[in-house]
Amino acid sequence: MMAQYLEIKEAHADALLFYRMGDFYEMFFEDAVNAAEALDIALTKRGKHNGEDIPMCGVPVHSAEGYLLTLIRKGFRVAVCEQMESPAEAKKRGSKSVVKRDVVRLVTPGTLTEDALLEARRHNFLAAYAEVRDEAALAWADISTGAFHVMPLTSVRLSPELARLAPSELIVADNVQEKLNEPVSDLGISLTPVGRASFDSTAAEKRICGLFHVGALDAFGSFGRAEVSAMGALIDYLEITQKGKLPLLQTPLKESEDRVVQIDAATRRNLELTRSLSGGRAGSLLSVVDRTVTPGGARLLEQRLSSPSRNLDVIHARLDAVDFAAQDSLITADLREALRKTPDLDRALSRLSLDRGGPRDLAAIRNGLSQAQAIAEICADQDLPVLLATAVQNLVGFDDLLDLLDQALVADPPLLARDGGFIAPGFDAELDEARTLRDEGRSVIAGFQQKYAEHTGIASLKIKHNNVLGYFIETTATHAEKMLNPPFSETYIHRQTTANQVRFTTVELSEIETRILNAGNLALEIEKRLYQRLSDEILAQAARINQAARGLAELDLTTALADLARGENWCRPQVDGSRAFDIVAGRHPVVEHALRQQSGDAFIANDCDLSAEDGAAIWLLTGPNMAGKSTFLRQNALIALLAQMGSYVPAEQAHIGVVSQLFSRVGASDDLARGRSTFMVEMVETAAILNQADDRALVILDEIGRGTATYDGLSIAWATLEHLHAANRCRALFATHYHELTALAGKLEGVENATVAVKEWDGEVIFLHEVHKGAADRSYGVQVAQLAGLPASVVERARVVLDQLEKTEREGGKQKALIDDLPLFSAAPPPPPVPKASPVTDMLDQILPDELTPREALDLIYKLKEAA
Ligand code: ADP
Repeated sequence: MMAQYLEIKEAHADALLFYRMGDFYEMFFEDAVNAAEALDIALTKRGKHNGEDIPMCGVPVHSAEGYLLTLIRKGFRVAVCEQMESPAEAKKRGSKSVVKRDVVRLVTPGTLTEDALLEARRHNFLAAYAEVRDEAALAWADISTGAFHVMPLTSVRLSPELARLAPSELIVADNVQEKLNEPVSDLGISLTPVGRASFDSTAAEKRICGLFHVGALDAFGSFGRAEVSAMGALIDYLEITQKGKLPLLQTPLKESEDRVVQIDAATRRNLELTRSLSGGRAGSLLSVVDRTVTPGGARLLEQRLSSPSRNLDVIHARLDAVDFAAQDSLITADLREALRKTPDLDRALSRLSLDRGGPRDLAAIRNGLSQAQAIAEICADQDLPVLLATAVQNLVGFDDLLDLLDQALVADPPLLARDGGFIAPGFDAELDEARTLRDEGRSVIAGFQQKYAEHTGIASLKIKHNNVLGYFIETTATHAEKMLNPPFSETYIHRQTTANQVRFTTVELSEIETRILNAGNLALEIEKRLYQRLSDEILAQAARINQAARGLAELDLTTALADLARGENWCRPQVDGSRAFDIVAGRHPVVEHALRQQSGDAFIANDCDLSAEDGAAIWLLTGPNMAGKSTFLRQNALIALLAQMGSYVPAEQAHIGVVSQLFSRVGASDDLARGRSTFMVEMVETAAILNQADDRALVILDEIGRGTATYDGLSIAWATLEHLHAANRCRALFATHYHELTALAGKLEGVENATVAVKEWDGEVIFLHEVHKGAADRSYGVQVAQLAGLPASVVERARVVLDQLEKTEREGGKQKALIDDLPLFSAAPPPPPVPKASPVTDMLDQILPDELTPREALDLIYKLKEAA
């Protein structure tokens, strides 16, 4: 057995080998040590190899999925090695034969299909990146849904595209692996290098044609060498990991860079589109806009939010659909009710295609398709907008398949096909007959028990069943004496004596047992055959079922967005080819949501107008910290993005000329993990914007230059603003704490000042969160520091220094003089304020609450009020 193990292990050196032994998957040697640590399970030993103990650990087969998930999350790949025959079959080949085993599947992050291992509401993409001479391309597929895409790229676009798709695994040729290490590990993608041969474009073309049964690739569009190479490598990898069983991929859909808004990784992170800065889904835009009720709808939402469109037709069609659903709230409510009951068609289908499905997947297809039909009926006679009409058309036409599944399946089938019991009675005569025989056998046995009890006169005699003896008669040792002797011993054959019981059988009982067993086995056989037939019938229509699933997802997303729009009072944006950017009373959906949850405070809506005929339109935003600058900046980016994904937006009115690229940067945040100085990161990211933004870009810069000394920072911010204005000529929001910059508004035509208003009251600031035209007069930093709880002595000292600084600046003095002029810092806190004595405090001092009656207390309150 060890020889067999070592041979299989050698062929899968880079994976943990799950070696099937009966009811366990066992791991040995290094694998055992690593897995035991990763899974926190016991490490034992078994036998010796070259004189040393062999470390071993194992996990039970029935709970293997959970362990697999942990291992995959921790970055392992797992080769699942199964027994390909039963021990009995092996014995037939020779008494010393080892059971045949083979790896049936390689489990990697990008090739999961089990519900337990996948997040229902997220895609799980496997991607392949190819370079062929000076072309590059990315192909990606979700084998749990069959989606398959490819796009040509320039290599600088790789990292942003990976950020958009967030694949869980990326395949690359080993010779390009090195340059991908950094972007990929930043995004938490698992990188899998494969041999260069996998990427060979000639072999790839054959592979693709073979998979889709076409003679030439032209059937799907025209593809460059790099695209073909990427798709081919992806298919090759699937063949290797699925051991030749290919999932049902849809025909490849070619995407292009100019189809969607370009958003790079830093912008995505910064705007917290699908994940918040702390990493989770909570607190992200996705989490507050998601009202979908099906996993397919949720996946579509994440995809749309990650890839807002630049195509006006597409945007308008989606908005028309949301409009319709928002107007007709009755239909929307009915649809959502029906959608809620729809199972995940895509994933059930994919499991069936990989032979990893079960009766519940058949039932999911049946329930899904019949829900689809019901949904189509709800929409009948409606004057639907194009997008929804197409979606609804795809939901019907499965009558024959539905009839078949309806008749064939019971209502709630069990999980595993091998247990049987999922085919409905009346569907297959042979099956019914076998089942009757099996069940009749069982009732015959019940009759035997009574007969034997009467025959022997032992009323407590029982007929039982176990896996070793099969059916047997059981009685206590006291009664058994009688049965072990004639005349009873002629009929009752002794089988076993345990501590308290004695067990017997009879010829008659063995015969009926064989009959039950045979009938039961026959029934199982027939059910297995029927399972295969049903699965084949379903797979024959896979492409159309995928379309129906897509239609359901579209309906779910549309009604979810309509529900959101009505519930949150959002408006339909006007999106066109102009260079407008005019938002009236816009809000930040996530901050608004958080305020409502935490303090109940209302969110203050703000206008933003960056419209320009041509040239730049930039608002330079000043105002104290905590005033709401970042919130304002981000809310406008989010509004543009929501509008272009085809959603209503959180505003009273919005007019947006299509945005091609979205950039958002925040001054120096800590990025120690990447080992770059924070200021360096800030500059690298700013450089990317200045080099790439075109006149259709929307740029959000928050406190750029803050990571360095004041004058450096100011100069860089200054030059950046000028470049945006003169060279990029884009629409931009630029928040800064350098008040000196406000002077630029007078000089540069496209630059306007805006500020977030605060009120000063009694030496403290009150944030109004209102954005006005004009520059902030002061930064109120000291007041904010006080609010934050800086020691009073430090706040006092800061006030003194600030006064001096401002005075020196007004008088054109030197900093040196300033330092000399300042009185020394005193660490002693100012004496605590002495409360002023008042008649009220005097009276309060004299009260002994314990001695008061309620009546006296009331009188006292009246007196206190008088005295105050
Ligand atoms: P800044 O960037 O100016 O330091 P932020 O945008 O981070 O300020 O906002 C600070 C806090 O003020 C937010 O967390 C939020 O609670 C609140 N806030 C911001 N904008 C608004 C608004 N328009 N209405 C209500 N509260 C707001």
